[in-house]
Amino acid sequence: MRKHIVAGNWKMNTTLQEGIELAKNVNERISGKDVTVVLCTPFVHLTEVSQLITKDTLFLGAQNCADKESGAYTGEVSVAMIKSTGASYVIIGHSERRAYYGETNAILAEKVKLALNKELIPIFCIGEVLEEREVGKHFDVIKTQLDKGLFDLSSEEFGKLIIAYEPVWAIGTGKTASPEQAQEMHKVIRDHVHGKYGKQIAEDLSILYGGSCKPSNAAELFANPDVDGGLIGGASLQAEDFMGIVNAF
Ligand code: PEP
Repeated sequence: MRKHIVAGNWKMNTTLQEGIELAKNVNERISGKDVTVVLCTPFVHLTEVSQLITKDTLFLGAQNCADKESGAYTGEVSVAMIKSTGASYVIIGHSERRAYYGETNAILAEKVKLALNKELIPIFCIGEVLEEREVGKHFDVIKTQLDKGLFDLSSEEFGKLIIAYEPVWAIGTGKTASPEQAQEMHKVIRDHVHGKYGKQIAEDLSILYGGSCKPSNAAELFANPDVDGGLIGGASLQAEDFMGIVNAF
């Protein structure tokens, strides 16, 4: 069964103390609805935030993981370390990682494998930049990101992950994709997955929309048949806004 999911990506925001307050606030406001809520905090917050979660629809995630299992990789954080904090999700392939840290589809494919091996659920991000959309290449870009980042997985492996479609031109810009643009791309993604993994896996896949999603536009985005939730950046930093999006279902 396809799940409704709203995940907050806090990015490099909040001190540990601020993060604890924010997580407490979200935890208190969750009222047992049929939406899975995930807080993707900075690494250093994970252990503490994990201990304050009391709602069974609230989960914890990291924003990245290393592409190696362990060893001499100074400054990196492995999937085993993330798992050991109590986190159960990990964002992989966010456009900021792709653009600023040179993460290629091949590196991301490694990260997805490692995460799945440790029973972390990848939230795999894909999205086109504005120039690609303007010249009509956006569908091809997305399909290539899927083919190269994910399509080496077995059906069993693929069936465990979540995809977030995040048009890069909409992230942090205040420019949201229209509900029609989001639905159109989510359907293309689902159809492409159908072609590779078959109907059941495609139907069960949760595809989240990300890019300037706010309480005021979440309901019209989530009303689309192929939009199963959101990956939320800026609006996840205020509990009230974030819960406004969660409650938009
Ligand atoms: C994101 O970075 O994943 C994101 C969706 O950011 P924002 O909501 O701020 O556009």
